[in-house]
Amino acid sequence: MNLRTLVWLAALTYTFVIGGGLLCYRLFVVYPPIAAATLEKHQNDIKAIQTTFSNEREALLRFNQDWAKWNDSYEFVARPNYNYIKLNIKSPSFLASNIDSVIFLTLQGKSSYFAEKINNQFITKNNTDDLNYDINNQLLLNQDKQFGLIRRNGKLAYFVSHHIQDSEQKLASNGVLIFIRQLTKDFIKRLNLISNVNFKLASYKHVSEPDLTPLSELTIHELSNKYSASLVNIKGQNIAQIEILYPDSSMPTPLDKTSIISILVLILLPITITLLLNHFFLLPIIGMFNQIGEMKKTGEVNLLAQKTNIVEIDGFLKTFNRLVEKINEQKEILIADSITDGLTQIYNRKYFDQTYDRVWRTTARNHNPIGIVMLDIDFFKNYNDYYGHLQGDEALKLIAKTLKQIDRRADSTLARYGGEEFVFIFQPKSTTQLENMLIKLVEAVRLLAIEHKESQTANIVTISCGACFIQQGGAWMKNNKEAALKCADDALYRAKANGRNQYYFQSFEIKDR
Ligand code: GH3
Ligand code: MG
Ligand code: MG
Repeated sequence: MNLRTLVWLAALTYTFVIGGGLLCYRLFVVYPPIAAATLEKHQNDIKAIQTTFSNEREALLRFNQDWAKWNDSYEFVARPNYNYIKLNIKSPSFLASNIDSVIFLTLQGKSSYFAEKINNQFITKNNTDDLNYDINNQLLLNQDKQFGLIRRNGKLAYFVSHHIQDSEQKLASNGVLIFIRQLTKDFIKRLNLISNVNFKLASYKHVSEPDLTPLSELTIHELSNKYSASLVNIKGQNIAQIEILYPDSSMPTPLDKTSIISILVLILLPITITLLLNHFFLLPIIGMFNQIGEMKKTGEVNLLAQKTNIVEIDGFLKTFNRLVEKINEQKEILIADSITDGLTQIYNRKYFDQTYDRVWRTTARNHNPIGIVMLDIDFFKNYNDYYGHLQGDEALKLIAKTLKQIDRRADSTLARYGGEEFVFIFQPKSTTQLENMLIKLVEAVRLLAIEHKESQTANIVTISCGACFIQQGGAWMKNNKEAALKCADDALYRAKANGRNQYYFQSFEIKDR
């Protein structure tokens, strides 16, 4: 396994363990109690609403009972007189009691008196028909103490009733006293305050398919932000619907925003760290390893190209590159040493052999001209014998240096061929150019005017040059490399034979050319 895989594997393991762990923690540890607490709060809200309803009912029932079980009311039913109405129903205290309608029923179920509060005044009315939808007069006559919800003028109200009796409740009832109270906006507002939620009371006029549990039996089966309950009248008919709508924000979700963000951050964190690690640390290191591996394969030592902001890696890179530079410097010195003649500091025979081989093949391929010149110091043995070997060395060095300066073109090569012999190859375009070069070479040494008393050709050191000329290279040159050298050597022999201190050149000839 490589370093990168290992780091990514560690990051992914961390991501799955931490991300998965947090997800499980949220889903199975944190969420259930929050959900349960919310459910409990909602159930408590429902209970509070139910209690408010029943408190309202109980207060009203008590109030209605006080009036029904009272001698004055009993008397009024027996002998209706306006004084009772004026003193009681139309009294300021009764007006303040929030009763909206008062109905006295006879034992026959007929209304003997009916008054409705309009503009804070009780107005006597005759017709109670609209109440018959929701009030079962017979049931009220049969049973004392009744309560129910009714529809009135498109709004909801509730009624309470008691049998009218004397204060002692000893005599038989002579009628039923009904109080009606409108479900006011204030009441709905109170329910809203209790549950602290959006509370809606909808008449069944607007409810198409009432199939809901009555409020008294309201149970919550599952967590949802909406609860509904039916309100029924005394006949068991649905007449309204209560809707409690909790805002979405109050509902817990298995994965809320904060949890998602925390999990994402914890998941993204190792990935970010890994990416940074990859970018700043792994990539440069892997790049370095690869490059070093490549060096091992090719045997070429190169500078590492990686860039990094990490001080330690940068330090390593710089040290390594300094080492590479040192190695390459040494290598260059070694290469230069291996191709340079130690005494004269011009190219040695080994370099010449390599270069001659290469130039020979390029000449053949490119059909270039080539001139091969062999140079030999005249009577040098005598020089050594007379001036000593050390001075002979100095003369050799000077001559080499002088010859080197004559032609520095990239396609020309001067090398020490051996002993006091040199070889020079270049590309003369014609025999004239070749001859000019040969003149220059011989002349240059002559101009040095190194004293040579033992020379039989002059009193200074001179050289003889023999050249071989090829006007145009070609495929024919193959296998003729040595022959061309021999041709130059022959020419040198001719120059020597002709008296030295001169040149001789000839074109290369081969029989089967
Ligand atoms: P010729 O004109 O026919 O070339 O006569 P020559 O004396 O130059 O030729 P020969 O081949 O007889 O002698 C070459 C001499 O070159 C012999 C040797 O002492 C001398 N020589 C060769 N290499 C060196 C060297 O590195 N240093 C010195 N000082 N002399 C060298
Ligand atoms: Mg010689
Ligand atoms: Mg010689």
